[in-house]
Amino acid sequence: MRRLPIFLMVDVSESMVGENLYKLEEGIGAVVSTLRKDPYALETAYLSVIVFAGKAKTIIPLTELIAFHPPELPVGGGTALGAALEHLMNDIDRTVHSSTPDRKGDWRPIVFLLTDGAPTDDVSRAVERWNRSYRSRVNLVAVSIGGGADHGVLKRLTEEVMVFNDAAPDAFARFIRWISMSIQSQSRSVSAGQDGKLSLAKPEDGLMAPVEKAGGLAPFSGIDDRFAVFVGKCAKTRLPYVVKFERHLGRFDTRDPALAKLLETRSYVLNTAVPVKNSYFDLTQSSDAAHAVSSDQLIGQPTCPHCAAQFGMAVCRCGGIHCLEGEGERTCPWCGNSGVYGSSAAGAGFDIGRGRG
Ligand SMILES: [Zn+2]
Ligand SMILES: [Zn+2]
Repeated sequence: MRRLPIFLMVDVSESMVGENLYKLEEGIGAVVSTLRKDPYALETAYLSVIVFAGKAKTIIPLTELIAFHPPELPVGGGTALGAALEHLMNDIDRTVHSSTPDRKGDWRPIVFLLTDGAPTDDVSRAVERWNRSYRSRVNLVAVSIGGGADHGVLKRLTEEVMVFNDAAPDAFARFIRWISMSIQSQSRSVSAGQDGKLSLAKPEDGLMAPVEKAGGLAPFSGIDDRFAVFVGKCAKTRLPYVVKFERHLGRFDTRDPALAKLLETRSYVLNTAVPVKNSYFDLTQSSDAAHAVSSDQLIGQPTCPHCAAQFGMAVCRCGGIHCLEGEGERTCPWCGNSGVYGSSAAGAGFDIGRGRG
């Protein structure tokens, strides 16, 4: 039987943490239940889920729809798109059947690459390998979630680069429908024996916009600057959590000119703090470069998402971030040393090691 292999390659970097990741998780379930009701898709479509952050991992290998159980999406640090592409190409080599003189191979694979950030690794070798050996035989659709991806890099991989407006009403539900419809139409085409270029479903107004052409490459900076992301450990449970601050673009809406002036500086506002599992460390590249922001630039203090302690951003002398209930002596869950904690005086900023987004 000729399969229609579909790879969902999902960015699970820290910047996706929170609502977007939950909605994508639900969305994968919705794609599968829609496709199961479609006799053409049910017959041909096989689905795989690859996640990537600082590293890439196949969490579901190509699986027929009837046996597919939607996965829980893990979280990691970084957006190593180059490593993710290499992983995808190796997976394609290993799992997609090519045609032989005695046997027809699989239909042309479809890849939906969903990402919301600029790569934190060097993609040039992977891009070159992709264009040399895969581009002509794989349908790749790159989706920039919220427009935050590096469109220049994506345009080097495929013509089909779409910006997904994740702030639109019901955005994720409609986006998932668009993916399902695109897969359904392709499974109809292949059932009729046409193994061609994917024709994407027409997206609803205001939801998706194609990137026609992108300018020059953004210089490789190795860090996603829209968010300041920190990894803490709960002092009680020792489990990790991710604290995400979002860069405040533009001015705060205030009538107080002094306050406005103060807040005009480059600051980050608390977005969310979510518990993660120890698998976080499996998907995170041990970072050699230190990226730091000063605590002065951070607005808002989260509670610990594991134990609800009041301060989620206490910093040990070792640099480790952990939760804290109040002032006094505590043991750091990172280094095991005990120390006495007080609140830092206003203006006395200290640097905090920062995830790569
Ligand atoms: Zn805690
Ligand atoms: Zn410590």
